[in-house]
Amino acid sequence: MTDSLVLVINSGSSSLKYQLVDTATGAAVASGLVERIGEADGIIAHTVDGETIEHSGPIADHAEGLRLAFDMFERTGHGLTSAGVAAVGHRVVHGGNVFYEPTLITDDVVAEISRLSTLAPLHNPPNVVGIESARALLPQVPHVAVFDTAFFHGLPAAASTYAIDIDVAKRHGVRRYGFHGTSHDFVSSRVAEFLGRDRADFNQIVLHLGNGASASAIERGKAIDTSMGLTPLEGLVMGTRSGDIDPGIVLHLRRSAELDVDAIDELLNRRSGLKGLSGVNDFRELQGLIDAGDEGAKLAYDVYIHRLRRYIGAYLIELGGADVITFTAGVGENSPGVRADALAGLTRFGIAVDPDRNTAKSREARVISPDGAEVTVLVVPTNEELAIARAAIRTSSSA
Ligand code: ADP
Repeated sequence: MTDSLVLVINSGSSSLKYQLVDTATGAAVASGLVERIGEADGIIAHTVDGETIEHSGPIADHAEGLRLAFDMFERTGHGLTSAGVAAVGHRVVHGGNVFYEPTLITDDVVAEISRLSTLAPLHNPPNVVGIESARALLPQVPHVAVFDTAFFHGLPAAASTYAIDIDVAKRHGVRRYGFHGTSHDFVSSRVAEFLGRDRADFNQIVLHLGNGASASAIERGKAIDTSMGLTPLEGLVMGTRSGDIDPGIVLHLRRSAELDVDAIDELLNRRSGLKGLSGVNDFRELQGLIDAGDEGAKLAYDVYIHRLRRYIGAYLIELGGADVITFTAGVGENSPGVRADALAGLTRFGIAVDPDRNTAKSREARVISPDGAEVTVLVVPTNEELAIARAAIRTSSSA
């Protein structure tokens, strides 16, 4: 039994998410979230068997956060000794041009992930801290890094190249890398499994709409385009991120508003998107404001849908037509309104959403297009933790 248990760790700047996954059944045995690391009012919420226990107090750093998580496992009967888990899977945001497969972690690998921090200053450093803390606590267990960029490593040059001075681009690693790859890979595989088809036999568009959001065009199982680029800032409108903007805006704000780089970074990553336009980044809250007649919230929603439709249109053309369009992640899985609006008025392209199927409540993969539609529209729950856990088992057993 224990040879199928994987601890999955997703380490952010001041938070740390973890899940103990049983890869034999696909179930989450326990999960938790450590928040406000480094502050006096830290908190850890640990969920097992549908019950959440909390602990609050100062949490000095990620190492202490993980130690507290380990205590929670002890208290709830799932001690994470070396004998208890087969592997630890770490979500790493940026693999640059170096990593495009799940990779067994060594000191050299940690150093390389750290070196890639210039490309992902907000993400890779906390990933490294999480890895180092976990390795110290579970030194006998293989640790595997799974990269968010990996699935998009093979993007065609035409899709991955920015039209800027090529020497400057090469010198500084400026290209489109894409993110959320673990989810796009997992969901597009699940689509094939669900439809009983080989992923190499058809074309799909996957719309991952969560707090972060991205779209991908997948031709016969291979990603040929995706909406995120050098960083996870490009593309769709997100909870707090702007997605696509005219790069001239950055120059304008630098020159005319005299904002420095960090202030612009903060503006575009944390105070833009739905939040920038409406004051809230959570989609349910946005929906509530719209229902109450808030005009800013309605505009935010309209901009969100407009951008989404623009990408769907682009990817339909790039693929020469899609066989399947799939919605996933928090908003994609739970908002029938977004799904209906994203694909409204497209019957001439063989795309339609059946209202009853779309609004039926379910947590399972399901078809929401009408019978006989040329394009199959699906809702497929993503599960990045399970994908990371499986990759960790595969990689550690083949090492
Ligand atoms: P993350 O990117 O943090 O993993 P998720 O995939 O969990 O995000 O998505 C979070 C988003 O999903 C939030 O904006 C949340 O409001 C939205 N969401 C969750 N449930 C619903 C729902 N029932 N209806 C609309 N939006 C929802």
